[in-house]
Amino acid sequence: MRSTGCLIEKSELIPRAMSDHGEGPLDQRRRQMLDAMGIQYWVRRDLPTGQHDEVVPGREPLQESQESMPGETMQQLPADWESLQLAVSNCRKCSLSQSRQNTVFGTGDQDARVMVIGEAPGEEEDRQGLPFVGRAGLLLNQMLLAAGLSRESVYIANILKCRPPGNRNPDAQEMKACHGYLQQQISLIQPEVILATGGVAAKSLLQSDEAVGRLRGRMHHYGESKISLLVTYHPSYLLRKPSEKAKSWQDLQLLMKQLQ
Ligand code: SF4
Repeated sequence: MRSTGCLIEKSELIPRAMSDHGEGPLDQRRRQMLDAMGIQYWVRRDLPTGQHDEVVPGREPLQESQESMPGETMQQLPADWESLQLAVSNCRKCSLSQSRQNTVFGTGDQDARVMVIGEAPGEEEDRQGLPFVGRAGLLLNQMLLAAGLSRESVYIANILKCRPPGNRNPDAQEMKACHGYLQQQISLIQPEVILATGGVAAKSLLQSDEAVGRLRGRMHHYGESKISLLVTYHPSYLLRKPSEKAKSWQDLQLLMKQLQ
């Protein structure tokens, strides 16, 4: 069976468990992370020893880039981290301020090459004041490690800084009210790549109505700086639907390629 684009013939692939080749570009630690994510990978045996390329079946080819619509005009917000975080802590711009326990500003390296953007704080995030904690946070950590990144080396934030009650989806008014904070964070960090996880983040950043399944697998660009933006599934969704982890690995491969 021949595939198209960058895909390779399946007959050229053998399961990892059957492979007796040496280490490829993915080192032992990353293999362990792939195992932890529950992703089966394959080893090409048609490459010289030491150059084995590990992939998962069904990789989709890169398609032509799609640029996002310009975001909302940036509000007059503090341009330093401390003042910006204080502004978020005191924010009452939408009704979520009434039900939150904590604002969830974001965490990580303020000079990160990669910015991970999720949807909104959940119950545990609201309690701790940190993004991506709990089981979804652990899976995100594993996904990042599989891509050769640590949680500390990226910056992680959400579209909304306060938790929608009952973990409902953010509404349009809330996203509009909160957008400036994230935009300012992106402006301060100037990441090389934004990884939008889940439909809410992807649709909000790209001003698109398309589903994650249609947005993922190709490069987009965000804002006037045309920051590279990739879409993948939210770790919470992957926990509910592990069969989609292979696609998230394909997205992480695109991320690694972009960072090379
Ligand atoms: S969600 Fe955003 S806009 Fe709404 S109160 Fe929290 S920080 Fe302010």
